[in-house]
Amino acid sequence: MYDCIVCGSGFAGSVSANILASKYDKKVLIIEKRGHIGGNCFDCIDENGILIHKYGPHLFHTSNKKVWEYLSRFTQWDKYEHKVLCSIDGQNVPIPFNLNTIEQIFEPQKAKKLQEKLLESYELNSKVPILELKKSDDVDLQFLADFIYEKVFVNYTAKQWGMKPSELDSAVTARVPVFVGRDNRYFNDEYQAVPKDGYTKLFENLLNHPNIKVVLNTDFKDMVTIRDNKFYLNGKKFKGKVIYTGMIDELFDYKFGELPYRSVDMRFESIDKEFFQAGATINYPNEHNFTRITEFKHIHPIKSDKTTILKEYPQNYVKGENTAYYPIFTDDNQKRYNQYVEYSRKFDDLVLIGRLAEYKYYDMDDVVERVLDIAKEVEL
Ligand code: UDP
Repeated sequence: MYDCIVCGSGFAGSVSANILASKYDKKVLIIEKRGHIGGNCFDCIDENGILIHKYGPHLFHTSNKKVWEYLSRFTQWDKYEHKVLCSIDGQNVPIPFNLNTIEQIFEPQKAKKLQEKLLESYELNSKVPILELKKSDDVDLQFLADFIYEKVFVNYTAKQWGMKPSELDSAVTARVPVFVGRDNRYFNDEYQAVPKDGYTKLFENLLNHPNIKVVLNTDFKDMVTIRDNKFYLNGKKFKGKVIYTGMIDELFDYKFGELPYRSVDMRFESIDKEFFQAGATINYPNEHNFTRITEFKHIHPIKSDKTTILKEYPQNYVKGENTAYYPIFTDDNQKRYNQYVEYSRKFDDLVLIGRLAEYKYYDMDDVVERVLDIAKEVEL
């Protein structure tokens, strides 16, 4: 009855299902364990009439025209360029840490010197990961690097990951580089926006196809079993493709041990005033137990006397208790993941896609790009 089974209805699962159904005319069954589609991109209107992102702020940005054009078939967009402030020594300054931030923090002469030193060593508008800047042998740049490392990265990373920046893959902190320019935006991709009617609507449009059936509130393993490296759907041998976007260790019953993930306790608060803070997100590396506060009204503007904020409290992922949001990038974890990938090769028709299945720190556009690439190579 079905040609393909897709586990999960986030971007990886929903874009895969859409392509399988519409391009290849396949009958697709999506098995989704939550009571809604959209994975961690799910959004909804809350009691204040504000569109909130239930699993943390999702700001769409990409430089990939194909990804942008593909998604634009399923949604209109509201232009939105994300800006983040960071609380340092009692003031809120722009990050990525840039030439403007330097002026806001240091007295004019010192600021000028630091800016000049940066521009002597790096091109205007270049991005310098903090762990790179720390290697500088210039005394002033070393001072600047130590300042940024201490005030922006070390405590935030301790909260977010329970580790030092150097213990994680350097790509993690390189996501928020020092920016040798005056652009205060968090991302500098060509396309930056949020879906006009929300992410959930975008996912509804992706999945609105007669060939796609979505089953909610259902564990993949309740419908699909594995025997002798073959998949069985409701007890019957399944001959088609299985697109799996969940946790790879769970799929294979943790046979090489659990892969560690980081989770976040998302705590929303309704505030009895029009606005709570000056911008969409403020990071708090050095105060509080949460990492950041996001105020959704800045992302999806609406007139209302009340506002909704989200405080993010990172925590360890514990199986069965909370949600796995982030793979944790260390060499040991990668080795364990590689054992799972090696094992997965025994399954001819299994395709692993997404943050959890590929154990990668993908952004939304990376996932869509990945699906589009896979779809080009094989009939998915
Ligand atoms: N980071 C930090 N301080 C900040 C912002 C980011 O130390 O103020 C580091 C931290 O390790 C974080 C990583 O950079 O996990 C990536 O940040 P990003 O904002 O991309 O994280 P996400 O939005 O994916 O949670």
